[in-house]
Amino acid sequence: MPKGKIIILSAPSGSGKSTIIGQLMEKPELKLDFSISATSRQPRGGEQHGKEYFFLSQEEFMKQIAEGNFVEWEEVYAGVCYGTLVSEVERITGSGHNLIMDVDVKGALNIKKRYGDDAITIFVMPPDKATLEQRLRKRGTDSEETIEKRLHKSEYEMSFSPQFDTVIINDQLEEAVEKVESAIKKFVGIKDV
Ligand code: ADP
Ligand code: 5GP
Repeated sequence: MPKGKIIILSAPSGSGKSTIIGQLMEKPELKLDFSISATSRQPRGGEQHGKEYFFLSQEEFMKQIAEGNFVEWEEVYAGVCYGTLVSEVERITGSGHNLIMDVDVKGALNIKKRYGDDAITIFVMPPDKATLEQRLRKRGTDSEETIEKRLHKSEYEMSFSPQFDTVIINDQLEEAVEKVESAIKKFVGIKDV
């Protein structure tokens, strides 16, 4: 069975990556499987261990690093680490499914470097900063301090967008989903009808 491909989405927090991924996961023809990352942050809202993330203590996270269990990991926010597990990449691509992941800009570019033509990097751009702020507030899952930190980081993150294979603006959700879907189909070799 041919190995699955790797689809990497990256964007400032609140741009809509998770929403877009959620809609794409409902399209069986794309054969997508979500790579669950590990993080040292606390679960928010209804997040569950083993669904959105593997939630680890800082100590457990460090142990996974020492054991060489990450393809890549980053301290995305001060004191908060996130990492892609080797076991997830092997499980998904080995089963012939296409792996979809949501990682920070540096993680995205590192994974692309490692997997080359087997990976595509897609940057999801918010229409503007005010809309990004509105979306972060509307989501209602983060404290004011966390929202400020995430907004503060967004410009830095957007400065990486020219290094991505594709940039898609998430203004109207349906249109953005269609564009990401079409980029994925082209990449994995499914004909658009
Ligand atoms: P991310 O995963 O990039 O942090 P989310 O998918 O959690 O972002 O989206 C942040 C918030 O914005 C959510 O409340 C989501 O429902 C909303 N949202 C996402 N895309 C759009 C859009 N195109 N128009 C309006 N609201 C959106
Ligand atoms: P959140 O806390 O909103 O779920 O995610 C915060 C940031 O961490 C996002 O930019 C997300 O893309 C990134 N992230 C999630 N998982 C990983 C990962 O495995 N590796 C890296 N480098 N970043 C990740």
